Amino acid sequence: MTPPDASQPEASQPDASQPDAIASETDVLIIGGGPVGIVGALLLARAGLRVRVAEKEADIYPLPRAAHIDHEAMRVLQAAGVADEVLATTREAARYDFVNKSGDVLMRFETGQGQTLSGWPASNMIHQPSIERILRDALDRMPNAGLHTQWTFTGFTQDAAGVTAAFTTPHGNRSIRARYVLACDGANSPSRHAANIAMHDLGFDESWLVVDTIIKDASPLPDCNLQLCDPLRPTTCVQMGQGRHRWEFMLMPGDTPDTIQHPDKIAELMAPWEVDGAVDIERMAVYRFGAKLARHWRQGRILLAGDAAHLMPPFAGQGLCSGLRDVANLAWKLALVLQQGVDDALLDSYQREREPHVQAVIDLGITLGQVVCMTDPEAAAMRDAQLISQRRKNGDAAGALALPPLGNGVFRTDDAQAGNLVPQFARSDEVFGPGPCLICETPPPPDLPINYLALNDPQLEHSAAALKRWLAEQKAEAVLVRGDKYIFGVGEARDLSAAFAQAIDCKP
Ligand SMILES: Cc1cc2nc3c(=O)[nH]c(=O)nc-3n(C[C@H](O)[C@H](O)[C@H](O)COP(=O)(O)OP(=O)(O)OC[C@H]3O[C@@H](n4cnc5c(N)ncnc54)[C@H](O)[C@@H]3O)c2cc1C
Repeated sequence: MTPPDASQPEASQPDASQPDAIASETDVLIIGGGPVGIVGALLLARAGLRVRVAEKEADIYPLPRAAHIDHEAMRVLQAAGVADEVLATTREAARYDFVNKSGDVLMRFETGQGQTLSGWPASNMIHQPSIERILRDALDRMPNAGLHTQWTFTGFTQDAAGVTAAFTTPHGNRSIRARYVLACDGANSPSRHAANIAMHDLGFDESWLVVDTIIKDASPLPDCNLQLCDPLRPTTCVQMGQGRHRWEFMLMPGDTPDTIQHPDKIAELMAPWEVDGAVDIERMAVYRFGAKLARHWRQGRILLAGDAAHLMPPFAGQGLCSGLRDVANLAWKLALVLQQGVDDALLDSYQREREPHVQAVIDLGITLGQVVCMTDPEAAAMRDAQLISQRRKNGDAAGALALPPLGNGVFRTDDAQAGNLVPQFARSDEVFGPGPCLICETPPPPDLPINYLALNDPQLEHSAAALKRWLAEQKAEAVLVRGDKYIFGVGEARDLSAAFAQAIDCKP
């Protein structure tokens, strides 16, 4: 087990001297009941661990935030048991255009309709509070998980066996003892501060007003997602979940969060879109979009995930998606450590794998943001000329925004498929289950120390033929899939099993 980082000062102490302090025990404590914390709780609870979530607010956050999630996020929600319910609230987006004031297309990303290799649509427009409601209801149904609302984290201590975290609650001070803690308490993350983990500032800082509306008449609304790259007022206009549409307006010199939210100003900003009477404003908020990355994602038994670990401008629609990837990456590793006694050095692979991916996603968000947020008219004219000529030469970006692979970690080396998502055929993820799984042509030797599925297993009835074809394309008899549905490797069953046992540092 990796000891707490001795170079970090001790985190603050819980006030266990309070007469009403009650210590209760759990496998994993999650601080923060936002979407990342609740999905993390669902994944861990579905893997059989005992989980508690402590959330300082009484209810979910009601203001505008994520409007888009990608196919991989849907796949994580599938693993959490809520994808079908979520999908029923979404709308599929087929195109994302960056246009100038004259309507010329500067960049176009076409994701098309239909399924991706994950088995879910590439681009899903959402209403974040609706999804958070679905997540919380699902958590309520888990017998081995619980959510404490109005519990505010105040500090923790950790030792060789676990972490004790302290909370103020409406009923007095409380503490929870856990083997591990997931710090999912958002951008300002009190638990990241308590662990004394600093953030790199990656250098983006723009304030935008976000206006969410309820659609009454969809006919005047654009049928794709738009970034209007107008140097006089950079503007976003995107679809959301069922029945909603969003506008975002960059704050310009002279605007303040108060002045831009005045009804007259909102009417002036919305006027060019000619949607008077077609939409009703539901809610609005001003945000400062930044880009930050935690220097350390783990301190002993504390693991950062979601906005607590990384922040990005929203132009690639990836902040929440990244947090969901974090907890998917951690859940199966924590289950191996807590249920099967795997050395917890395995958890060090979390930052190694996730950080380069998130760094690239942040860079993408910044690059797109720099295209949109250009306010110098001369520079904007040059940008337009350059992007239009590039588009004439190269055509449109095919498919969704390209995302990088995970960094080095628990993957077989020298394996072309290692680190890719395994394709999902006919809900095959659900048959593979929450942990690592070896899928092979014929039953493997009986002494393999890992779950396996033979392709003729009746559970694979609907996906076996497609999996078989895919394995044949890889010229492999087996694939070892990790719990987060990334491929560990393809090849021979026994070799894969031995390499995996070595990679997670347990005996084959
Ligand atoms: C305008 C906007 C647009 C966005 N668009 C997209 C998009 O299209 N796609 C996308 O993927 N992402 C998008 N995002 C980002 C996305 O909303 C966030 O990444 C996501 O909400 C982060 O979830 P989280 O659970 O990590 O943090 P949060 O949702 O912030 O949850 C943290 C929780 O911790 C709780 N907490 C804080 N302190 C304590 C404490 N002391 N004790 C206990 N609990 C505490 C908070 O109350 C909160 O409930 C957007 C964000 C904004 C602002």
